[in-house]
Amino acid sequence: MNHDRSRELYDRALSVLAGGVNSSVRATRPSPFFIERGDGAHVIDADGNRYLDYVMGYGPLLLGHTMPEEVRAAVQQHASQGPMYGGPTEVEVELAEFVTRHVPSVEMLRFVNSGTEATVSAVRLARGITGRDKIVVMQGGYHGAQESTLVEGEPGDVHPSTRGIPESFAEHTIPVPFNDPGTAQDVFEAHGDEIAGVLVEPVLGNNGIVMPVDGYHGTLRNLCDEYGSLLIFDEVITGFRVGGLQCAQGTFGIEPDLTTFGKVIGGGFPVGAVGGKTELVEQFTPSGSVFQSGTFSGHPVTMAAGLATLEYCAENDVYDHVNALGEKLRSGLRDIVADQAPEYTVVGTDSMFKVLFTRADSPPQADDCATGCCQDPSCPRFDDCPKTGADVGKGETERWERLFWQSMKEEGVWLTANQFECQFVSDAHTMEDIERTLEAYKTCL
Ligand SMILES: *Cc1c(COP(=O)(O)O)cnc(C)c1O
Repeated sequence: MNHDRSRELYDRALSVLAGGVNSSVRATRPSPFFIERGDGAHVIDADGNRYLDYVMGYGPLLLGHTMPEEVRAAVQQHASQGPMYGGPTEVEVELAEFVTRHVPSVEMLRFVNSGTEATVSAVRLARGITGRDKIVVMQGGYHGAQESTLVEGEPGDVHPSTRGIPESFAEHTIPVPFNDPGTAQDVFEAHGDEIAGVLVEPVLGNNGIVMPVDGYHGTLRNLCDEYGSLLIFDEVITGFRVGGLQCAQGTFGIEPDLTTFGKVIGGGFPVGAVGGKTELVEQFTPSGSVFQSGTFSGHPVTMAAGLATLEYCAENDVYDHVNALGEKLRSGLRDIVADQAPEYTVVGTDSMFKVLFTRADSPPQADDCATGCCQDPSCPRFDDCPKTGADVGKGETERWERLFWQSMKEEGVWLTANQFECQFVSDAHTMEDIERTLEAYKTCL
């Protein structure tokens, strides 16, 4: 594979962009390939190399790179009419109506411009409503580049996870291990009346893919009810991907108080949203007194792309297709892993997947978990399957990044560049793509 033109572009980029990129994960080693265009399930780089893509924009591109005609027409119409105004438009109302019709816990929304902005706004709203400061988050959870959640440590010993955030901010955040109801209980017993909310991804999606153990979200729901705290589901990755149009909360049968969205609901354009019960969401200004505002919020082009994308999903068998391919891929990977690298674990659900380079010393995944670890206690691998962010971090992360990812790229399959980010099947992928991908895993694992 020739990368001359990409290297030239990276050379120029390093002079004028921090680290040569605009989002840290894009700086793949030794140097990133620059993308010229997308085509269905593929991307083509600046040197003309073609890759089968499972990065899919890190989540937004449920339909792949080629917009269906309906989506393209909606985008072009709204782009040519404006593109934006600073006054309300009908399409914002329509997208909000669509979301409230399909997601049971959501009665009202506020649209913003990124997942980060959604979680920042949701945390502010929870603090404003409860008059409390503390937020409980999961170790290894990710809620964007926001000050309240970029923390590390244990309850009682919490520090910012990056420079640039005051130690005093981290004092208000309590990170607990995902899937550990006992620690959550202890934290509420010690601080319950200071906790504004629990912010949790229903499925850890930015740190491997870790499914909840049975009953975990129910425990969080009960603790929030008991102590008057808000349960906030961060569905920026899982929203309109896991569980289809009802989202992950529908699959798990849990009604959070607030939900954050992003990624898929913008149809490939920058987006975020906070949704929930009317009496909570209307506490945002101007109806309430928790300040929230944004020049680009509810951008007509984004709203039109999101609405047309979700309507396309409602009218076509998108979720059946992507979920069937996801299952086929994960079960094929389970067989390959059992054969070639029995210490590794296949994880994922719906159209999300990953092979975690765990160091497990147990039998392969049993049939109940044959299409991705679902935390089945009867699986012989249960004790070795990652349950927390820390468990994922103990894997062979360097081998993944330095050897495996590189050789998959040489095979023409583009995966997310590290062990932690998940991968996505899109509506544009085909059964032949899946078979080709399994062959590539066979060669590279
Ligand atoms: C991607 C992501 C975010 C951040 O969204 P941005 O649009 O990148 O700001 C927040 N939470 C979760 C769960 C995400 O996956």
